[in-house]
Amino acid sequence: MSFVAERIIYYYNEWYYVISFIDITEEEIMSELIEISDMCKIYNPGENEVRALDHISLTIGEKEFVAIIGQSGSGKSTLMNMLGCLDVPTSGSYHLHGKDVAEMLDDELSDIRNKEIGFIFQGFNLIPSLTALGNVELPLIYRGVPRAKRLELAKEALKKVGLENRMTHKPSEMSGGQQQRVAIARAIAQAPPIILADEPTGNLDSHSSEEILGILKNLHEEGRTIILITHDPTIASKAERIVHIMDGKIYKDERNTGESEQQIREELKAAQENQVTAEDRTEEQHGWEE
Ligand code: ADP
Ligand code: MG
Repeated sequence: MSFVAERIIYYYNEWYYVISFIDITEEEIMSELIEISDMCKIYNPGENEVRALDHISLTIGEKEFVAIIGQSGSGKSTLMNMLGCLDVPTSGSYHLHGKDVAEMLDDELSDIRNKEIGFIFQGFNLIPSLTALGNVELPLIYRGVPRAKRLELAKEALKKVGLENRMTHKPSEMSGGQQQRVAIARAIAQAPPIILADEPTGNLDSHSSEEILGILKNLHEEGRTIILITHDPTIASKAERIVHIMDGKIYKDERNTGESEQQIREELKAAQENQVTAEDRTEEQHGWEE
């Protein structure tokens, strides 16, 4: 090959490398993990409609630990359902990893719910007749994970939440805190990068709550994105960022700079005094039953 041809190929390769590098960084800078834009969710559109999410815009980056705090009825669970691709908004958009969720096919959506996101709820939602191990294994069965791998993943997850000695216990033989730890093990068995927790300590005493928060903190330190939904300032004060929601609107979103719980509590109270909560309003209007 002539010297000139060699040089041309050399520079072509160099430039190709430089150009593809620029492409990657641009993509990384441009797409946040979660981008919700101008989202509304209206239940029962029409006369008796409830505006559970009212023009919400929210961006969450990878590896963040965010608390979403608000009173009962403020729209937290509705927002969680959207974030978890469990429900569709009335309007607005949701991009996950830069991809429009509204354009995803059913298969893609269920993949996200199964592999990308670990869900933790207030009521642990365990199956009473199954042992801790059985409960953690169950979703892995649905996902077609072979038996040996399933056992390995389930045991590893239970170990991670400190339940290696409770694997054969059924939910009725465990405390609330232990049951929630089983539920966390179930959520993290397949190492989803995002954890969505809706009032995970809502049914627990303060000691168990501390344990659960400790586990969430460890999962965050391992590099997961944690979204923690709560009405409790004590819980929210453990997150790196606190998003305040009321009447389906985000009215404050800031880094947690070691704000004291008392301060968060006062914020909540002040906001509440300014407005009737969504729940009161809903009850007044329609007499909802939970
Ligand atoms: P939070 O989790 O903060 O307590 P939710 O997101 O559960 O709040 O509820 C927000 C508002 O939407 C409330 O007024 C609630 O009554 C209403 N709501 C929630 N789910 C439904 C539903 N399936 N149908 C009608 N209204 C609903
Ligand atoms: Mg809720």
